Amino acid sequence: MTRTAIVTGAARGIGAGVAKRLAADGMSVAVLDLDETACKRVVDEIEAAGGRAIAVGADVADEEQVTGAVDRVVRELGAPTVLVNNAGIIRDNLLFKMSLDDWDSVMSVHLRGSFLLTRAVESHMREAGWGRIVNLSSTSALGNRGQANYAAAKAGVQGFTKTLALELGRYGVTANAIAPGFIETEMTAATAERIGVPFEDFKKGAAAQIPVARTGKPEDIAHAVSFFASEGAGFVSGQVLYVAGGPKA
Ligand code: NAP
Repeated sequence: MTRTAIVTGAARGIGAGVAKRLAADGMSVAVLDLDETACKRVVDEIEAAGGRAIAVGADVADEEQVTGAVDRVVRELGAPTVLVNNAGIIRDNLLFKMSLDDWDSVMSVHLRGSFLLTRAVESHMREAGWGRIVNLSSTSALGNRGQANYAAAKAGVQGFTKTLALELGRYGVTANAIAPGFIETEMTAATAERIGVPFEDFKKGAAAQIPVARTGKPEDIAHAVSFFASEGAGFVSGQVLYVAGGPKA
């Protein structure tokens, strides 16, 4: 049976890697991001590899846009029973310099966005008696200097995930979180730029602190998502998997 998956923030980075992997696993994939045209590259790559995907433009923090996006996925791909809440932003600053807008924007995309998407798809999962929800947390959930907003949001994602596991388990729906360490994407490149370090040096410095002696790639996270979303993972729920090349953040 072909499952339909929605991956948010999938125009690039980890989300793009996850969308391509789930398509390769045989799912039809809605590649959702703020800008629909930015999703086309990932959709083209999936189609070129023989998979099925559509580009969906929506702001995950906007209730109406989320409802419209999910309705479109139902019409064009079928009822979504796999959801990967991956869309994310950073607005890093030390607490005394953090604006209210920095705080609210980060909460809005990570928490409000995950809530809105999950609420919009859960009835489809209950109806199917099967569902897989995978939420992107971060090693920053354990605390990270300059990321009071992001750390709070990513810790919040873990509590959200565990509660979904408790509420939806009886309907055959699992919910798990993945907490990546350093992954090479535009998000980490932007951090390097902000602190004025060339990205290659930034990666080398990070790799030196990581037990497997390298930084992560979107494919590393996609592999973990693929497991949580698989048919055989139905007894794994409410877990947080740190995918960080070692035991510590
Ligand atoms: P990224 O390269 O910055 O990609 C994030 C994507 O999310 C972008 O395409 C962005 O679109 C989209 N997005 C942002 N706000 C959105 C919204 N309101 N609605 C819909 N889409 C939105 O980030 P990434 O590194 O792949 O990160 C993916 C996820 O993993 C995030 O949740 C992040 O917090 C988490 N994570 C990343 C790392 C890491 O080391 N990279 C580590 C731990 C956790 P625009 O380009 O249009 O803004």
